[in-house]
Amino acid sequence: MKCELCQTRNAKIKRPKNQMPVCHECFYIVFEEEIHHTIMTNNLFKRGERIAIGASGGKDSTVLAHVMTTLNKRYDYGLNLELLSVDEGIIGYRDDSLETVKKNQITYELPLTIVSYKDLYGWTMDEIVKVIGLTNNCTFCGVFRRQALDRGAMLIKADKIVTGHNADDIAETVYMNILRGDFFRLHKCVDIMTGREDALPRCKPFKYTYEKEIVMYAHFKKLDYFSTECIYSPNAYRGYVRELIKDLEKVRPSIITDIIHSGESIKIDTSNVQFPKKMNCKQCGFVASNDLCKACVLLDGLNKGKARVAIGRKE
Ligand code: SF4
Ligand code: ZN
Ligand code: ZN
Repeated sequence: MKCELCQTRNAKIKRPKNQMPVCHECFYIVFEEEIHHTIMTNNLFKRGERIAIGASGGKDSTVLAHVMTTLNKRYDYGLNLELLSVDEGIIGYRDDSLETVKKNQITYELPLTIVSYKDLYGWTMDEIVKVIGLTNNCTFCGVFRRQALDRGAMLIKADKIVTGHNADDIAETVYMNILRGDFFRLHKCVDIMTGREDALPRCKPFKYTYEKEIVMYAHFKKLDYFSTECIYSPNAYRGYVRELIKDLEKVRPSIITDIIHSGESIKIDTSNVQFPKKMNCKQCGFVASNDLCKACVLLDGLNKGKARVAIGRKE
């Protein structure tokens, strides 16, 4: 069968997004061009900006570093790209994946900054798990990572942070927010750029990029990425939602894009949604919706040996 795009080479794959038979060369082109289109139509960047690429060494962020470097050169975006990694302190997982980021730093010739939980908060995830066990570890980790990325980006004087969140991640988050009635987050999770008016906006150039295509791209291009899951990963709830979407995808490949479009189109009656206030944490000065930011509340709990109490406190 011939490739549907060039009509000359043999088709080697079926695009997961639309089932189109294409050759490898055309697949690379459409994959990259769709991301370029997303970047341009959403005005994600301005010439001269310093962009921190959140790099974990996994497939998404490795492909993100590769594609951002490629497009920045091809279309002369004029961006200063840098890699920014967070070391959660998980032996046997993050130490290995950071080795992959270091290799990428050399391949793409990008500066790399690593910020660690140990330096920022005085605790590694390994130490936190020893104290709190394996029930709420991802709550700590998620809150700390978010702030750690901000802190790292401020350190390198970045104008924006880009993350490798892909279409599957966003569709899962839309679904999870609907299931738990979290309309504030539903509103936010489909936004390609959050915090536009803040000092450090975050954007997701892979918002419409299918995970399967990211894996294919990384595989055929032989990119160096780390594929092991975190040793503390439970995430049962997201796991169920992911399975459900994967099952639906088998009968309707467009389901991922459909869910994202639904999330974008849902009009929210804001009179019923409590939007958190924005202020600065009295302890660390970072963004908070209360006197103390979530990271400080969790950290205080840990330091006082009352981590379980801290989790129950509403921000
Ligand atoms: Fe952190 Fe949980 Fe992700 Fe592991 S699975 S890196 S503990 S958020
Ligand atoms: Zn082709
Ligand atoms: Zn704080």
